[in-house]
Amino acid sequence: MINLENSVQYIKGVGPKRASKFKKLNILTIRDLFYFIPRDYEDTTDFKSIGEADLGEKSSHKVEVIGKPTVLRPRAKLSILKVPVKDDSSNAQLVWFNQEYLKNKFRIGQSLVVNGKVSRNGMEIQIMNPVFENPEKMKKIGSINPIYTLTEGISNNEITKIMRFAIKEYVHLLEEYLPLDLKSKFNLLSIEEAVKNIHFPKNNLLLEKARKTLAFQELLTLQLGLFTIKNRNLSDENTIIFKNSADTPEIDEFIKKLPFNLTNAQIRVFEEIEKDMESSKQMNRLVQGDVGSGKTIVAVLAMFKASLSGYQSVMMAPTEILARQHFEALNQFYSELDIKCELLVGSLKPKDKGKILEELSLGNIDVLIGTHAIIQDGVDFKNLGLAITDEQHRFGVKQRAVLTKKGRNPDTIVMTATPIPRTLALIIYGDLDISIIDELPPGRKKIETYAVGKDLIQRMNEFIRKQIEEGRQAYIVCPLIEESDALRVNSAEELYLDFKERIFKEFNVGLLHGKMKATEKDMIMEKFKQNEIQILVSTTVIEVGVNVPNSNIMAVYNAERFGLAQLHQLRGRVGRGQYQSYCILINESRKNTSMERMRILQKSDDGFEISEKDLELRGPGEFFGTRQHGIPELKVANLISDIKILKVVQSEANLIIEEDPRLKLDKHKKLKYKIKTMFKEIDREITFN
Ligand code: ADP
Ligand code: MG
Repeated sequence: MINLENSVQYIKGVGPKRASKFKKLNILTIRDLFYFIPRDYEDTTDFKSIGEADLGEKSSHKVEVIGKPTVLRPRAKLSILKVPVKDDSSNAQLVWFNQEYLKNKFRIGQSLVVNGKVSRNGMEIQIMNPVFENPEKMKKIGSINPIYTLTEGISNNEITKIMRFAIKEYVHLLEEYLPLDLKSKFNLLSIEEAVKNIHFPKNNLLLEKARKTLAFQELLTLQLGLFTIKNRNLSDENTIIFKNSADTPEIDEFIKKLPFNLTNAQIRVFEEIEKDMESSKQMNRLVQGDVGSGKTIVAVLAMFKASLSGYQSVMMAPTEILARQHFEALNQFYSELDIKCELLVGSLKPKDKGKILEELSLGNIDVLIGTHAIIQDGVDFKNLGLAITDEQHRFGVKQRAVLTKKGRNPDTIVMTATPIPRTLALIIYGDLDISIIDELPPGRKKIETYAVGKDLIQRMNEFIRKQIEEGRQAYIVCPLIEESDALRVNSAEELYLDFKERIFKEFNVGLLHGKMKATEKDMIMEKFKQNEIQILVSTTVIEVGVNVPNSNIMAVYNAERFGLAQLHQLRGRVGRGQYQSYCILINESRKNTSMERMRILQKSDDGFEISEKDLELRGPGEFFGTRQHGIPELKVANLISDIKILKVVQSEANLIIEEDPRLKLDKHKKLKYKIKTMFKEIDREITFN
């Protein structure tokens, strides 16, 4: 008996050779084939009279042959076949190139349906290279035909034929797994009808319904899976219970001695964290806060709390620069406390590293800061109680998981400055609780942002010169490191040389990019901090976290090549001191949309608003890889364009979980199985007990 998990090779007409082509398209089984959604459709249902056809567009026409075919041979290797036709509105010629053999297929008085691009040559209306059929037996015309993503060696026609056959033979094997009450509540198609119509839609309305049905089903499975992971975490005992805030007056004293007052948002978020830490459940919390909202101090407090209960903490940052900066900040904050803090990064000498690892395993280090180096084998804690990941969007779920495994279900916090709308956060961070620092510390001056064209670069340089003469510093960011012939884009190296040798000869100019050795980067960064370098030309390595309050200018070349959220991050590098700061976005694209995007940044300094717009304009793909976030690849749904469906799905998912948290009811049995399968594909095991 055939089932949907069988290889596509079982389908008639698919041999080993075609199967290997399908494999390239990620189609292994018959089920995969059904979920290979067309990337587009060709709609030949658009019947018009010749007279009202749009020139340059394809359309379908019912015509009658009114004369004999003629063949022209304007030059060798070119023949033009013309067949005169008419309908009630006009005459026209059907035109084919180098297909003379067709000429015997037509006779005067014959009725035809044709589909082709309509154009005009002088007085003559032509229908170019049309598909034509007998109106009694229409197959290709008058239907909406799928257009599939292709790979070499297989054509759209071939896939269409195989799909048509597979659907005819096997579509009944698809099982309905959404609860029936849901299907009728939202007017969804049966799974069979949905799959049939996503490939061979009877009409546009059914196509729309098919898409909605499949997207709904996919998103509901995903969301329920994520909620289940979160619920499991909620019920997992981690047996790490930190002291109550009543028993840790040291923290209040510490807060009182800080050089600033915490914002209300910081206080609220720390309270949420404390509550999790004091419970026996494992904390899995995302702290979202715009650049400069002060996430670090919240981490500092949480780690202090951990150490007061005798537990070790770890904080992982995506770059060595950032890790070092955290290390320095922490040492300052903790200077009067009995907390031993160490830094573990890749560039350490083996001897120093060995010493840290030993002290760590003995429990003599309370707080460890570092980069990926922290999650390597051989880094063992004595009793890790709290694991923090900073700028989490730079890490994958896997890396986060490895960090967590360094202890026995330690409480975890992930921090990010990439704010995303709540609906999306429930997917991207669906397995986490969310805290939001939605307030900036008082007294921050708004960063003046200018979007300019290339023609203003000279004026900008003069402005930078003046600022530096007054004692300030500047970041200059470029998309590339080295010169590229293919792209006409500024490179950091080129610009650096031009600045150093010509434009800003009188200042010290530095270069920083991702291909440099960590020690080299640190040296440059240190010089910039000490104002031994005034102008730092760099790639986006400085995107996250860097803190040099004296630097008040951020100029970005080829700003059109960056995402808005990323530009907002870059802008967040300035405005950190007492000086008025400036962000200059050099837009080198002539596209209108490009300047429009820059204007969004000019107007708004709200990270949430900006990222929402960014998502609208660029789609989620460039914003975050779903895989990186531990989310299965979506085959039908699109997190942005299907956001309305997603909202509905989320409230339904909540209702289902409320009624049946472990999906034990009969009507949820199949759904549960689907969820497991979906997540197994990305190696995430989901348990429901
Ligand atoms: P981010 O959220 O981007 O990681 P940081 O934690 O680096 O921000 O904080 C940015 C700067 O603001 C740091 O210099 C920090 O000391 C300072 N800061 C944090 N909280 C406050 C506050 N409540 N009042 C004033 N300054 C603060
Ligand atoms: Mg930070």
